Amino acid sequence: MKRNGLCVHCGKIDQLMHDLCNECYEIEQNNIKAVKKVLFKYPNSNAIDLSIKTGISIDGITRLIKKGTLI
Ligand SMILES: [Zn+2]
Repeated sequence: MKRNGLCVHCGKIDQLMHDLCNECYEIEQNNIKAVKKVLFKYPNSNAIDLSIKTGISIDGITRLIKKGTLI
């Protein structure tokens, strides 16, 4: 479901998907894929390990975990 609003990631006003603009939503989908790949290889990784191995900020990782997209 799309609605207009402020992207929680970059602050752009756009049509949002899960509180993200199109651009950030795509980036997030790629981030999720990257994190899942690392988790598959290293199931006991913590947020810091994931951040180092994927290049995503720890903030970004914890946001994905909080949203439950990785489980
Ligand atoms: Zn955005």
